[in-house]
Amino acid sequence: MLADNDHREIGRRLDLFHFQEEAAGMVFWHPRGYRTLRALEALIRRHAEADGFAEVRTPQLLRQPIWETSGHWQHFKQNMFVLEDDALAAKPVSCPGHLEILRRRAPSYRDLPLRYSELGLVHRNEPSGTLHGLFRLRQFTQDDGHVFCEEHQLEAEVARFCASLIRLYAALGFEHVEVSFASRPDERAGSEQVWDRAEELLQQAARRAGLTALHVPKGGAFYGPKLEFALPDRLGRRWQCGTIQLDLVLPERFDVQFVAASGERLRPLMLHRATLGSLERFLGIVLEQHDGRLPAWLAPEQVAVVPVESAHHDYAREVESLLRRAGLRSALDLRDETLSRRIALSHEQGIPYVLVVGGREHAARTVSVREGDQQRVMPLTDAVLRVAEACAPPL
Ligand SMILES: [Zn+2]
Repeated sequence: MLADNDHREIGRRLDLFHFQEEAAGMVFWHPRGYRTLRALEALIRRHAEADGFAEVRTPQLLRQPIWETSGHWQHFKQNMFVLEDDALAAKPVSCPGHLEILRRRAPSYRDLPLRYSELGLVHRNEPSGTLHGLFRLRQFTQDDGHVFCEEHQLEAEVARFCASLIRLYAALGFEHVEVSFASRPDERAGSEQVWDRAEELLQQAARRAGLTALHVPKGGAFYGPKLEFALPDRLGRRWQCGTIQLDLVLPERFDVQFVAASGERLRPLMLHRATLGSLERFLGIVLEQHDGRLPAWLAPEQVAVVPVESAHHDYAREVESLLRRAGLRSALDLRDETLSRRIALSHEQGIPYVLVVGGREHAARTVSVREGDQQRVMPLTDAVLRVAEACAPPL
């Protein structure tokens, strides 16, 4: 028996998604849930574009040699889904795909920094005992991104990422962010001088962005140090979401180069970055945070149109089509239930706005707008504008 505010229970109650044994750790998104996931994807996509990322899409399955080059075959194979007699694996990350794109471009120094993003559907074969609803999945959408730049551009890139990430979190309702700085682990690639420089750069950039980072000695990846961003929720839990990692290894392994001003071919530096990490997990967090009453921009349906009686169905249809054309996710409730019951049902489904239309509203071309306990009658076009404005994404 799940607690009422467990996101798996909320997902069932609101008809958002389900899980079943035959696909452990993977989500069956129902129409209402998928709308919400897509709204979150759209926001993350806009955020990446505003940050200068070009979106790409890379293959779901890649052959073994690529994973050997990236090091995943040696270090991560037990967590990968491997097919066809060990020769092909579902991607657990999108980095190799982005490196392969860059390798074919041999960009000029003028093209740098080059930023690629991908809403990558990744697969990780997590042990079944660790799976936990949307919080820990075997298949999820990772908001992955990579920056390729010269060394003198690195600090500005990291500072820019930190500032933009803090803006994103604030827009999503998380004002408080905990930052940690993970430095060189015992087992690592690259020389001491390179690590000194890399760690200094990341710390400096974090300071420039006004962040105080907690130092986690030896917590870095074997290929480079990282900054990690965790969001505390109102239940006192802490979710590690964003990360930016400097990579001193993969550009070399994948032999990517750019043409310097001198005509020489040089190796770019690489940053891996994610803002929310897993979009599905973030939705799980937000669902629990709001007990299923998602902010209007994220709600599966943003507005319901409820006619008082069947005589008002045509006007209700007209109102609903206007809302749709204004880009709103709307529901038309023509069910054979009492008016108060239908309003209550909309409320239970977490729909933030309800427009009630009856004879008086039809005659005057108005609607009665209900938001929470408040209610007011407005001209139809004003109401559409008002609701569209209130449902606009925060970025
Ligand atoms: Zn990466």
